[in-house]
Amino acid sequence: MYAESEMAAPAAIVQNALQEDLRTPEDILVGLRLLRFVHWSFAGHEKKGSIVMHKIAMPATRAYFRLAYKLKFPIHSAYPINRYGWSDEKSLACNNSCGHNMRRIDDGTGRWSLHAIGCAKDTNPMQNPCLIFDETGQEVKRQPTLGVYDKSFPGTLTLEHPLVKVMEDHGFVWGGTWTTLKDYQHFQMDRAILPEYLARYVN
Ligand SMILES: [Zn+2]
Repeated sequence: MYAESEMAAPAAIVQNALQEDLRTPEDILVGLRLLRFVHWSFAGHEKKGSIVMHKIAMPATRAYFRLAYKLKFPIHSAYPINRYGWSDEKSLACNNSCGHNMRRIDDGTGRWSLHAIGCAKDTNPMQNPCLIFDETGQEVKRQPTLGVYDKSFPGTLTLEHPLVKVMEDHGFVWGGTWTTLKDYQHFQMDRAILPEYLARYVN
């Protein structure tokens, strides 16, 4: 049976205990919420998951996991990033679905990712990898490296998928619609609707 509960995200979960320069600033921290919910596993069993998102992203996040349960959309696991030593790479390799993570975009600009402000989340990275292309359209990088995007496989997101639609209805952009890279696992809040105190971190 579906169940969910929401609470203020404990600092012990969101604060990177290993890297001082990746600690969550206080004005972001006060808005972070921990959502606990029930989801289906790939084996068809009910599992408990949890995700940390900013409170402004919570209506979308709650609608998303409620719908995923209703549709029996399988999710491998959903645990906050502290379980993986705050390492996105480890979380991806474990096919984990994750939200808040105080990390920078991997594009050399040093800009914070929308994950840093709790306004982005990833789903099933192995089924929905991030593909990065060069200017000729050749794939140069894949995250996770063993990820395979096959629309016919359960747990895979597509443009027509109701889970993509529900996020778009809540003001989120799906990374599968981008062109220079295809980040199939990724949803982020439209930058245009971010409040200024959060936008200044990511713009
Ligand atoms: Zn992402």
